[in-house]
Amino acid sequence: MSTTERPRILVVGGGYVGLYAARRILKKMRYGEATVTVVDPRSYMTYQPFLPEAAAGSISPRHVVVPLRRVLPKAEVLTGRVTTIDQDRKVATVAPLVGEAYELPFDYLVIAMGAVSRTFPIPGLAEQGIGMKGVEEAIGLRNHVLEQLDKADSTTDEDVRRKALTFVFVGGGFAGAETIGEVEDMARDAAKYYTNVKREDMRFILVDAADKILPEVGPKLGAYGKEHLESRGVEIYLSTSMDSCVDGHVVLKNGLEVDSSTIVWTAGVKPNPALARFGLPLGPRGHVDTSEKLQVQGTDYIWAAGDNAQVPDMVGRRAGNPNAWCPPNAQHALRQAKVLGDNVISGMRGFPQKEYSHANKGAVAGLGLHKGVAMIVMGKVKIKLKGRLAWYMHRGYHGMAMPTWNRKIRVFADWTLAMFLKREVVSLGAMETPREEFYEAAKPAPAPAAAKPEGEKAKAS
Ligand SMILES: Cc1cc2nc3c(=O)[nH]c(=O)nc-3n(C[C@H](O)[C@H](O)[C@H](O)COP(=O)(O)OP(=O)(O)OC[C@H]3O[C@@H](n4cnc5c(N)ncnc54)[C@H](O)[C@@H]3O)c2cc1C
Repeated sequence: MSTTERPRILVVGGGYVGLYAARRILKKMRYGEATVTVVDPRSYMTYQPFLPEAAAGSISPRHVVVPLRRVLPKAEVLTGRVTTIDQDRKVATVAPLVGEAYELPFDYLVIAMGAVSRTFPIPGLAEQGIGMKGVEEAIGLRNHVLEQLDKADSTTDEDVRRKALTFVFVGGGFAGAETIGEVEDMARDAAKYYTNVKREDMRFILVDAADKILPEVGPKLGAYGKEHLESRGVEIYLSTSMDSCVDGHVVLKNGLEVDSSTIVWTAGVKPNPALARFGLPLGPRGHVDTSEKLQVQGTDYIWAAGDNAQVPDMVGRRAGNPNAWCPPNAQHALRQAKVLGDNVISGMRGFPQKEYSHANKGAVAGLGLHKGVAMIVMGKVKIKLKGRLAWYMHRGYHGMAMPTWNRKIRVFADWTLAMFLKREVVSLGAMETPREEFYEAAKPAPAPAAAKPEGEKAKAS
């Protein structure tokens, strides 16, 4: 950690907002004007819209993350977690990966800690559920699903087989619908290589408490997405929720009960709960309350944006809705980060702050190879696309939105190779416990039982 006399701009979180805001600040800053410090428990930014494709093996998981130290060579990147903020002393407490927590002074602060999975106290969920917020979870899900096919193919126990081949996804927004679409596609492909597993033997179930899926693309395309998934054999239960899943026994409110080894939880997100310890003004759902200039209410040296912030939607407000807020998505996070970066520079130099205002440009969702839905907004016109064309839009948009040319090229290379080579369907579940086999080989052999005296031997026999 540097201890220069320059003012420090501390960026808490190196995700979408943190990465783009830090880049913007570094680009606009004069040489030596400030030290930019980015703190994140991960050393990389995750491009979350690609997690479903990483889970399906269409993109290498390494290519959906961006190494912070490489992309921000002029910033100080610390791998750790900010645990508290003392606004009076202007210091943050950082808990590094190892060792004692320490205090880090700052002059300007950017809060970009994103969101975490929103869960409910459902019996069994904590033990059985798999989230879809990080690349580790995408890798884990892929290995887990392929391992279930391995298990089902090699067991003679019909109950074990049925449980292994039942996949339950809770939450039908972007993350849930895209993930079930991609994973079903992968499992269908993989089944070709198994003697005892066919697609018809598998059960894919999508559950949502709302009465529609994919609300992000509007009701018509959401309905198309639902019909499309159903045409592929996905069972969709709407206006219902999961009551419990103890030991994989899933009970839905509508009365359906199934046993499943795979319960994927994508039922929404909530702002990072660590915010509650920062002493910042929070909105009713736990977001940091910001002005339209992305400044935290009541401060002139703290900014926030992205999934952890409650940012007024000025387009909606001008159209007459006084309660319009920006939804938590990548489209806003990226654009807010750029305005936020400019405002930090202006704040440091004593110039006025810019307002954040962005009109929705639409949404794209991929539902597996060559399948998707898209809604493009051009002024007052909404163009709705489905099928292969929408899928190309999805790939084109996200491929270009991926940060850095290095990652864009790698992602496009993965897609190009996949056109000529078959999908990888190997499960590397053992990656999660890489030392197990070596430990078994290296652990000390048990001491041989001590020889018993002759008399005792005779007694024992
Ligand atoms: C599976 C999935 C698919 C999605 N698909 C789409 C899509 O198609 N289109 C779209 O627009 N949006 C999509 N989104 C939403 C989009 O990815 C988010 O809105 C966006 O990532 C928000 O950016 P952020 O910077 O606020 O948060 P994040 O990108 O999540 O970054 C937050 C960062 O803060 C770090 N952090 C957490 N706690 C601490 C701490 N205590 N100290 C320091 N750092 C901390 C985290 O490690 C993380 O790096 C998707 C999300 C998911 C999960």
